Amino acid sequence: MKDILIIGAGPVGLYAWSCAGMLGLTGYIIEGNDNPGGQPWELYPEKLLYDMPGFSEIKTKTFIENLISQTEKSSKQITYFGKTNILTVNEANDGFAVTLTNNEVISVKTILITSGNGVFTPIRLEHLDATQEYDNLWYAVKKLTTLTNKKVIVLGGGDSAVDWANHLVEDKITNNVTIIHRRELYRAKESNVQKLQQNKITELKPYHVKNVQVQNKQIKSLTLEHENSKEILELAADYFIVQYGAKVAPTMLNQFSLETTPMRKIIIQPSGQTNHPHIFAAGNNAYYEGKYYNMVTGFGEAINALFNITKIIHGNKYHPGYLSDIKK
Ligand SMILES: Cc1cc2nc3c(=O)[nH]c(=O)nc-3n(C[C@H](O)[C@H](O)[C@H](O)COP(=O)(O)OP(=O)(O)OC[C@H]3O[C@@H](n4cnc5c(N)ncnc54)[C@H](O)[C@@H]3O)c2cc1C
Repeated sequence: MKDILIIGAGPVGLYAWSCAGMLGLTGYIIEGNDNPGGQPWELYPEKLLYDMPGFSEIKTKTFIENLISQTEKSSKQITYFGKTNILTVNEANDGFAVTLTNNEVISVKTILITSGNGVFTPIRLEHLDATQEYDNLWYAVKKLTTLTNKKVIVLGGGDSAVDWANHLVEDKITNNVTIIHRRELYRAKESNVQKLQQNKITELKPYHVKNVQVQNKQIKSLTLEHENSKEILELAADYFIVQYGAKVAPTMLNQFSLETTPMRKIIIQPSGQTNHPHIFAAGNNAYYEGKYYNMVTGFGEAINALFNITKIIHGNKYHPGYLSDIKK
């Protein structure tokens, strides 16, 4: 039986993976999405972070890549399973027998839940083959320079759609930006909505996408229909950024009878323990009064939980020492 199962490889799970290995724990980490990195990787990889200790600023994507490479040393002790969720959990012999959706059956003494806001996937552009990838259709902006001087269409009317449309112009990536929204009013911060005009962004609303023209894995153009007049427009572009939001897939965490808030956050003790003494939680899925939800808070909760997990594994008197004392 191994020591730990970490559920979720967002920033907090990735950090927990590194630290668990350094603390000498053995086990597994699972991630429901195709890629590790959680919300920062999926939602805002190109944004700058200003609140990471030791960095006056760092690009989110670079920070997540650093977290991933930091896990390398721990990858022998802690096995990573991507695109994997929990199927069943049974308590057995002072631990848990967990069946995973990749058909692996694992036994662990403790569980650390770092599942954040759940396994979310972007809401996709309609009229397309959902199994097919399209080179110039992005659900997250992962490499801004690719868009330099290109004609870009942003679809959506929420904060992230409005933010990206403004950002592309303000950061001098391209001046050729169109935003398409199916309602008359945006659901975004008013000051950013006003910037759309200042930035000379073409606004098409209220229009919905009636059809999509595709050629060789590329989106060529969109057929738009005006919500009221039913006027039809044909619009071509080099890149299409869809910001319709995300849907959260069921995470199977209801397998555990854990005490949660009405918003389904897991209530934890100062030790990181949930109401089950061998199940811990850290990061965006964990709650205690006065909590501020950001990455640094989650990192602190993760290492604290791991410290207490080492006590379960090695006995209450055990102290793992500082990680700087660990021999390479
Ligand atoms: C637009 C935006 C900007 C932000 N800016 C900042 C900032 O500047 N600084 C900052 O510190 N924070 C920022 N945040 C908040 C930050 O992103 C979160 O605090 C952080 O992502 C929480 O990390 P996490 O690992 O707990 O959860 P998540 O990032 O949500 O990751 C959880 C991971 O677990 C996986 N998962 C969930 N359930 C399961 C399951 N059952 N099985 C397998 N895998 C599962 C998910 O797929 C996901 O990869 C921002 C958030 C947003 C939306």
